[in-house]
Amino acid sequence: MATLADTGLAFTTLPHPAPASDEQRAAVLANPGFGSHFTDHMVVIEWSEGTGWHDATLGPRGPLALDPAAAVLHYAQEIFEGLKAYVQADGSVSLFRPEANARRFNDSARRLAMPELPEALFIEAIERLVRADRGWIPEGEGASLYLRPFMIATEAFLGVRPAKSYKFIVIASPAGNYFKSGSPAVSIWVSDYVRAAPGGTGAAKCGGNYAASLVPQGEAIARGHDQVVFLDAVERKWIEELGGMNLYFVFADGTLLTPELTGTILPGITRDSLLTLAREEGLQVIEGRYSMDEWRADTASGKLLETFACGTAAVVTPVGKVCGHDGDFEIGTGGPGQLTQKLKARLVAIQRGQESDTHGWVRKIA
Ligand SMILES: *Cc1c(COP(=O)(O)O)cnc(C)c1O
Repeated sequence: MATLADTGLAFTTLPHPAPASDEQRAAVLANPGFGSHFTDHMVVIEWSEGTGWHDATLGPRGPLALDPAAAVLHYAQEIFEGLKAYVQADGSVSLFRPEANARRFNDSARRLAMPELPEALFIEAIERLVRADRGWIPEGEGASLYLRPFMIATEAFLGVRPAKSYKFIVIASPAGNYFKSGSPAVSIWVSDYVRAAPGGTGAAKCGGNYAASLVPQGEAIARGHDQVVFLDAVERKWIEELGGMNLYFVFADGTLLTPELTGTILPGITRDSLLTLAREEGLQVIEGRYSMDEWRADTASGKLLETFACGTAAVVTPVGKVCGHDGDFEIGTGGPGQLTQKLKARLVAIQRGQESDTHGWVRKIA
């Protein structure tokens, strides 16, 4: 467990002058949607050169005071994470693999020239926020409290170099099912834009990657699709990932393939968890390269049965239709495939404490 002894940092707790009323909270929890409602509190921890991490506060959520010259506003020195707290079958509250998010956060920090945060402090901040906002966790199928830890460069300086001060912040947002009607198969557009190039920031979870994905994503929407799929930057041939989800391909011979982590793909924790679960199911799991041409040909020949995308927000989402300049093709019958459903059910059951956690993934916190 993360304790004060682990991190050596004492948290100040500021009382909330006017938390949401029970009625207001109940109204939000009845239909939380995704990402537009927030809990009463937030955690803020400051970092400055020389002092390191200091002034950890759990307090009321509210606007930040930032100097207009703050580095994050000009050069986008920002990273983030996304994970969920779930009400378990027994009424307790758990996080899913928060150490993996803490590790990845520091991987991102190094790539963006930002200070690393001790993993125990990352987890402690999240635990404190979830305990303070315990009443904001929606219950029911697909419901959770979405947690958004992030770090921004706050130094007021317009020169181009790593900032000398940062804020680490955690906010929380009650979340319903990401897709309103369960898991309909999504339609995806093969983008001409590139998400990440070799040597770039594709493996870091930074806001800049998302800013650059908005035009390609908008193009997909304008063409009547749900999501965009990005190909590799060099050959424009190998399938990488969606704007915010990793991909899996299911073959008739019992093989499961996901694009290998080449440095341009975000190493998803859902992706990693499914690698383990699929191996337990006896599937031959390959991390390798898979091209657009193979995807199209294997779908036509019946060699490929299912494709799904995965990530914390939407968990597992079937891909039903693929469209690009070289034509369209459909996968499966428009709903989730058999293996897609099975893997999703197992992952969700572990996350919610309905299936035993044999990997030490579930961390009970309240
Ligand atoms: C966060 C993210 C994912 C999924 O990662 P999870 O840890 O499974 O939530 C995939 N791709 C991108 C670009 C991401 O930012």
